[in-house]
Amino acid sequence: MTTVDFNQIEGPTPDYDEVVGQYDVLRTRLEQATTGARAVAVIQDWDALQRRLETWSNLAELRFEQDTTNEQYRAARRERDQLWPKLTELAIAFKRQILAGERSGDLEHHFGPCALNQWKAHVTTYDPKIEQDMVREAELELEYTELLASARLPFQGETYNLSRIVKFREDPDRAVRHSAEQVRWQWFFEHRAELDRIFDDQVRLRTSMARKLGFDDFVGLGYQRMVRVDYGREEVERFRDAVREQVTPLAETFNRRRAQQLGVDSLMSWDEGVFDPRGNPAPRGDHDWLLVQAQHMFDSMGGGLDDFFRVMTNSHLLDLKARDGKAGGGFCTSLDSYGLPFIFANFNGTKGDVEVFTHEVGHAFQNYLSRAQPLLDYTWPTYESCEIHSMSLEFLAWPEMERFFGDDAQRFRRIHLAQSLLFLPYGAAVDHFQHRVYEQPDATPDQRHAMWREMEQLYLPWRDYGDLEHPALGGFWQSQRHIYSSPFYYIDYTLALTCALQFWVRSRENPTRAMNDYVALCRRGGSLPFQQLAASADLVSPFEPSCLGDAVEHARQYLDLT
Ligand code: ZN
Repeated sequence: MTTVDFNQIEGPTPDYDEVVGQYDVLRTRLEQATTGARAVAVIQDWDALQRRLETWSNLAELRFEQDTTNEQYRAARRERDQLWPKLTELAIAFKRQILAGERSGDLEHHFGPCALNQWKAHVTTYDPKIEQDMVREAELELEYTELLASARLPFQGETYNLSRIVKFREDPDRAVRHSAEQVRWQWFFEHRAELDRIFDDQVRLRTSMARKLGFDDFVGLGYQRMVRVDYGREEVERFRDAVREQVTPLAETFNRRRAQQLGVDSLMSWDEGVFDPRGNPAPRGDHDWLLVQAQHMFDSMGGGLDDFFRVMTNSHLLDLKARDGKAGGGFCTSLDSYGLPFIFANFNGTKGDVEVFTHEVGHAFQNYLSRAQPLLDYTWPTYESCEIHSMSLEFLAWPEMERFFGDDAQRFRRIHLAQSLLFLPYGAAVDHFQHRVYEQPDATPDQRHAMWREMEQLYLPWRDYGDLEHPALGGFWQSQRHIYSSPFYYIDYTLALTCALQFWVRSRENPTRAMNDYVALCRRGGSLPFQQLAASADLVSPFEPSCLGDAVEHARQYLDLT
């Protein structure tokens, strides 16, 4: 068991010239490797270097997100953003050498084909001629993060940031929900020009980068960046169609019934966060209490989660409280030289705290179990597979929910399942929107807002923003950080959820088998591409026509929507 403390973890800024020197040595050694074993040793040394660089980069990003007002962290983050493309360039050149070299067959034999296929994807995403574009791209992402983190929203005599005000979406009082949403969207309305400008710059920049690299548009580059080695846009389109055909109608039925239960004429967007007139169940304690319950939960679940979570708390690898100046959202990152993950979240007292928490623990647990994988590229799988680990843990933790919600646990489970179903069409809409945007990069901001409205009509036909001007005019997507910061990431959640729902069905039929399969999948890390990982856990690929049928049917029954 590790005794490393996060507060003592260091990721010193690399000296670029020194790294260049290290790469020179690696290149020469690889060129002169006369046996497979020697080539493997070179790759292992390169991997250790990559883990050090990744640790520094992740730490610089993380510290800044923890306090966006800290000048020192901001400077370190900017330094990271300046240096990272140069380091990427060195790594890409080295991958080119590996792929073209005489020992690539030996390396494939030793490490498996997955890494080499990933490197083939990586080399298509970078060329020195886009170095400055990458720096600019990171600047624009930072601009969006800083802009949203700077929001100060007056509400009910207090000041909220965007992460904290959303808790009122779950308030049992409809008038409170509505006025909080008015305040939130008013902020977006007032910043629309800036939000449009940042995104327009991003779309043009990303398109230009794609063309410089020989792609027709950014969609192609976006897929390669997501390292999608075993599926393409046609498969994704087929999946979105399946969601629209099978899940959207079920979601409509659910929402009609929900409106009745809430006693409202029609479900407005500010009602979509609540599921029954009593309001949503909330965890029955604060941050510290929640962590104690969490340890009990993982002790009861076993499978290694128990010891793992002790490491996370003892080593201070959790930052879960919302506070001013802290960036929004929740994520898990890794400190690769130490073989440790870190969880970042913004607890706000709602049930979402428990969901985000179990979600991020799923990521962290997988990363921790994969720390002994032979390559950095295998310590995390590609994102659609990563999200299987996180979302499945949310479902596997269901039997433990009494610890957080007491006799509201059953209500929590039903809501969690309903929200998961409702998420599928939303996720497909976000993905479809991004395809449209990047296929028509010359569209104006107004046209983009119209595209988003069209997506809502297609996938979320019940959506009604009433007098909330900004989203009613098509601006909802501007609150979705992934659209700015992680293009084409969003569909990964829905692909993974389709797998996680299968784990849910399995856990109801055979909990022991579900848990064992889950732990085994986590251990495999990123050593296989998405569809093979899914198959290894006996999951139906989301690109098979039957992928949603079973889960949708179980959900229909569980939610009494027959
Ligand atoms: Zn996740």
